[in-house]
Amino acid sequence: MTEIIAELQLPVLSPLTRTATGFVPESTPEQVAAIVASLRDHQPDWAALGVAGRAAWVAKYRDWLLDNQDHIADLLRSETGKPRAEAVFEVPFVVDELNYYANNAAKFLADEHPRPHGLMTAGRRMTVRYVPHQVVGVISPWNFPIALTLWDAIPALLAGAAVIVKPSEHTPLAVHYVLKGWEEIGAPPVFAFAGGAGATGAAVVDNVDFVQFTGSTRTGRAIAEQAGRRLIPYSLELGGKDPAIVAADADLDYAASGIAFGALLNSGQMCVSTERIYVEESVHDEFVDKLVAQVSALRQNGESGFETDLGPLITDEQFTIVEKHVADAIHRGAVVKTGGKPGLAPGFFEPTVLTNVDHSMLVMREETFGPILPVMRVRDIDHAVELANDSVYGLGATVWTASTKRGKEIAQRLEVGAVDVNDTSAAHLICFPAPSTGWKSSGIGGRFGIDGIRKYCKVRSVVSSVPGTAAAVQMAWFPYTAARSKAFGVFMRFTGGRDIRRRLGI
Ligand code: NAD
Repeated sequence: MTEIIAELQLPVLSPLTRTATGFVPESTPEQVAAIVASLRDHQPDWAALGVAGRAAWVAKYRDWLLDNQDHIADLLRSETGKPRAEAVFEVPFVVDELNYYANNAAKFLADEHPRPHGLMTAGRRMTVRYVPHQVVGVISPWNFPIALTLWDAIPALLAGAAVIVKPSEHTPLAVHYVLKGWEEIGAPPVFAFAGGAGATGAAVVDNVDFVQFTGSTRTGRAIAEQAGRRLIPYSLELGGKDPAIVAADADLDYAASGIAFGALLNSGQMCVSTERIYVEESVHDEFVDKLVAQVSALRQNGESGFETDLGPLITDEQFTIVEKHVADAIHRGAVVKTGGKPGLAPGFFEPTVLTNVDHSMLVMREETFGPILPVMRVRDIDHAVELANDSVYGLGATVWTASTKRGKEIAQRLEVGAVDVNDTSAAHLICFPAPSTGWKSSGIGGRFGIDGIRKYCKVRSVVSSVPGTAAAVQMAWFPYTAARSKAFGVFMRFTGGRDIRRRLGI
């Protein structure tokens, strides 16, 4: 594989120092095509290993990831600027998912033999087989470079596909390194890296058989159009504007702490960040006081070790969006309770709590992807649900109430793919048996659960009969005669009717 990797080098900037922190090879579209062709050559042998053979390689890879966890965290810190406390947990979360799929892949991908559903199919045996796509392209964003690449690549490999990954041009260092790990353990050459920006991603879409994409809704649409032209399947995990609903009976200290974490983890640069908070009016002021106390105590000091809580925004572009949303909110009457301005160093924006917000403001409608917590007073839960659903996005939500039962009832009214009740906004993302899907403009398809591995497969159904045993249905075959057609009609009617008069046609 190394010989088809480009000599072109892509510089990677540290958001903390704003200087190059490393380089990765950049792949031209022609090189992407060559990488995919090579993966295609090796995929049949990989598929032939069977689930157990593939799981054995994946287990070796797990050990390599754990052995190299610290270096991976260092690379993540250098390219994202995130605090060390956040950089160190990507590998353990990947390993947990890897174990889930390695332990269950054989069951999830086993042939199925559905029982005949009625008399019509009584003599037929059905076999449903999951056949891997040859080459899966995983295109990932910059906010959790390792988790959002390997969470998708590992189940694809276990399914029997070969995988090419195209990480974000802003954060390819750690991904490039973990691809080297696959080579280092001596695993078959079915897992490859492509470096570059949008053009490299588009070349991946042009060559693979299935696209697994995580990123913005804008890019997701472009990929869907391109994949549509090629008629290849895809799964898109896109942007969000996740609401939190705080009921009057909630434990307000607990809710403030869980919401602050869910909104500010990775400086708010998380697809399932809490980006809108609706609080029942009787507890609004008390909740805001508690939230402000939590948020204003956080450390944002330009360090990237364990002695800081919030890092910088990834790019100047991201910083500008955050500044614009806050300025627009203030202009329309929002009140800054804490933060509200750039932080100590370039790229940092202070964690900010806004009140007096409403749905005319960008900060309540568009994805901000920054450390901003806008809090809105609502009349009651019905009002909160109505506002929570007033969004083009439908990724996740959180609900905070003393009654878990009531929380689950509120959750069922929300137009989103995942709801955390009395838990922080990312909690569902580590519950791997539960699928994580985006509704509305937040995505198509999804990851995790049984479909999180089956989606990397085509489905082949084989229906077989022992000659002569489906005799009743054979009456429909040529040649047509009135007697045979009539007899077949009687049989069909008998199988379809649910009461004796209609079964017999009397
Ligand atoms: P982005 O869409 O700008 O880029 C994502 C990836 O797509 C990058 O690797 C980029 O190089 C590539 N790309 C860009 N143009 C392309 C094209 N035309 N064809 C193919 N690939 C192309 O997103 P981003 O700024 O890296 O990430 C932030 C976004 O990702 C946010 O909107 C966030 O909500 C979303 N996100 C979603 C999830 C989820 O699971 N739903 C998780 C994390 C991030």
